[in-house]
Amino acid sequence: MKPKSLSLLFAFLLVAAFPAFSQKKVKDLPYHQLQQYSWMRLATIVPEVTDRIILPVGTVESHGACPIGTDNYIPENLAEHVWADVNALVAPAVNHGVTGASISQFPGSIMIRPEIFQEYIYDILKDLVRTGFKNILIINGHGGNTEPMQKAITKLHLETGAHFMIISWWETAWNLSEEVYGLKPIQSGHGDLEEAALVLSKYPDLIDREMYEKLGKDNLGHAGTDKGVIMMPAWATTRLPESGVGYLDFDVKKAKEYTVKKAKFISDTFNEAVSRWEMMETWK
Ligand SMILES: [Zn+2]
Repeated sequence: MKPKSLSLLFAFLLVAAFPAFSQKKVKDLPYHQLQQYSWMRLATIVPEVTDRIILPVGTVESHGACPIGTDNYIPENLAEHVWADVNALVAPAVNHGVTGASISQFPGSIMIRPEIFQEYIYDILKDLVRTGFKNILIINGHGGNTEPMQKAITKLHLETGAHFMIISWWETAWNLSEEVYGLKPIQSGHGDLEEAALVLSKYPDLIDREMYEKLGKDNLGHAGTDKGVIMMPAWATTRLPESGVGYLDFDVKKAKEYTVKKAKFISDTFNEAVSRWEMMETWK
């Protein structure tokens, strides 16, 4: 046999003898968080086991009776439900983002300027691409982050050819409002039922029920003031999707159901995108 045929035979025997060797997935590894590995170990994982990574991105912002870290807890919680299904590692989260200026004066809120945030995200993604990640899923917890991130991924895709997806959870799968909570399909508000559910499913104690009841659910929020009415500062840190709709529900079981279904939507969407991206590359 020629040396080339021999090496092919060897590769075949190796795969035949150790099927797990060829099919190893992130779920077979000891960890799924990027920062738990040494750089030498990581180099054996990317891209052989996976070229996919999830970057959870949020912000530090007041959210009524929900914790100030709501927009960080949600993408991290969703990432924990998504990584195995999409065979991805999870990158350290970006916890400081473009908090809304109109509520940035409430205690605890921290606002990064959009132009700074865009550069910061660009640098993080650039090094993930350099490490070998070709398919990057950003699970976004906060609306102010979207536009700067979109600019960053557009630039990086044109420069590197890597594939990116941003999923802003509240703008997707509105049918879950109806399926789980019996509301009409509607986009979630701010610090309201659906946003609280994605925190509650992981941290049942972090929704401040005592304050919610003390202040009164109608004093904590308002509906629709972002549609044609701009205030500086805002008069509340929550927003209901519609007047009288989206008051908090403390049912942890329902919150878990909502989280699992939302995560499934995210996994399915990303998996489909990766297979289509890969198909597009074979056409070239
Ligand atoms: Zn939020």
